[in-house]
This record gives sequence, structure tokens and C-alpha cells, in this order.
Amino acid sequence: MKITFLGTGTSQGVPVIACNCAICTSPDARDKRLRSSIMIEAEGKVIVIDSGPDFRYQMLRAQVKHLDAIVFTHEHKDHIAGMDDIRAFNYRQEAAIDVYATTRVQESLKREFSYVFAEMKYPGIPEINLHTIDLAPFFIGHVKFIPIEVMHYKLPVLGFRIGDFTYITDAKTISEKERQKIKGTKILVINALQIEKHISHFTFLEAIAFAKEIGAEKTYFTHISHRLGRHEATLGVLPENITLAYDGLVLEV
Ligand SMILES: [Zn+2]
Ligand SMILES: [Zn+2]
Repeated sequence: MKITFLGTGTSQGVPVIACNCAICTSPDARDKRLRSSIMIEAEGKVIVIDSGPDFRYQMLRAQVKHLDAIVFTHEHKDHIAGMDDIRAFNYRQEAAIDVYATTRVQESLKREFSYVFAEMKYPGIPEINLHTIDLAPFFIGHVKFIPIEVMHYKLPVLGFRIGDFTYITDAKTISEKERQKIKGTKILVINALQIEKHISHFTFLEAIAFAKEIGAEKTYFTHISHRLGRHEATLGVLPENITLAYDGLVLEV
């Protein structure tokens, strides 16, 4: 299975518009973070988790020529805003794209992209096949997804375990029951927003504590804000087996 980090930034991305801080002005390419998303290539399927506002550019940058499915973690704009741009794949593949989302997320998609669900469809709009997911494991082709419910302040958000790989983007609290689903994973991706406290995201120290508890062979932090520090400097203070993801990072799992 091949994992590509399409974006590793928080909702505003890094750099933040009009910000002159040391991170936003860093010359290091790893300090440029589009909104969080990964691409999974496994069992002949190309699957993206979330399609945020940078989806179009992420597809161009990673030279993605084929897409089978999008799986949504939750309905916040930084995770769904780019869904309109699946049209390119609709034309190219002459097929609808499979979209996996909970009923609650589907309600948001229907509001945000009402034209996609209209009875009289305007020509050229995105074509999707909606699949309803909940906390039960599901398959995309032969790829098994185990949903993990995490709390993003009061909003339940889905993370996913796929074999030995677990991806969680927007957690503040995770119940013991859900933690059990993650244990034994070899690669863990978890959100680490910033140093200071935050109401809906793990801070840097909370993410480190969580990573240590899970004890994966390697943990990658994502959904990073410009308040975390420069990539290179932050690597220097991280414990062994924990590192920062960056846009364009590819893992073979
Ligand atoms: Zn900044
Ligand atoms: Zn987010």
C-alpha cells in the first residue's frame, strides 16, 4: 500500500494569507502545507481521504490520473470544499466517483453542493455514487477500512485504520474503546495543531502523549498550523519514532 500526503496543514493552510511569521515565511518547502488529505493506492484502487479546498492543486501536484473514491472524515470546509473538482475524473473516466460518508456528513454535502443532488441536473456537474458509512468496517474493492470515532470538540469525526496504517486528522479526545482499534498499528498519523491549548485539536504535547500510548513503529503528525514551529526545528525536539509529515511525503506501508 502506498500513502501520499497530499496536504498536512490545518484549515487555513501554511503559509496563512498575509502572515509574516517565521513559519509562514520559511524557505523550507516542508513548511508549505496544503489542507490535510492523503491518497491511498492499494489493491488497484486510488482512494483519497477528504477533498479540501486544495484538492484540485493536490491532484495536479501529485500527477493523479485516476481516482476511484473519496472517503470523508467529517464535513468541515477544509475537508470537503474541493469535491466539485472531481469533475475532471468524471470526464476522463466516464464514470461517477464513489463517495463514502456518514449520513450526517452527507447532509452537509447536500447543502454545500446542492446542485450535485438536484433533480434536474445541470450538464457538467460532479457525478458521485454516495455510500453510507458508520462505525462498521467497510470495503472499497478489497481495501478494508475500519472507522475510528474521535471527538473534534463536540463533533464526532472518523479516522480510519487500513491494515497496519491508521489516519486521524481532527481529534481532541478519543475514547478507550476507539483507542483499542488503533493499538497494534504500525504507522499512525495523528493531528498535532500547535503548541498552545486548542478546544478541538490535539496540541503538540497531547499528540506526543497519544503517540507514545499507541506505540506505533512510526507516528507522523499532520493537520499542522503555523503555530507549531518550523519543520526542521520541530523535528529536533520530537521523541524517536515520532516525526512530522509534510506535503509530498510518500510511505510504503
Ligand atoms: Zn504565520
Ligand atoms: Zn480539519
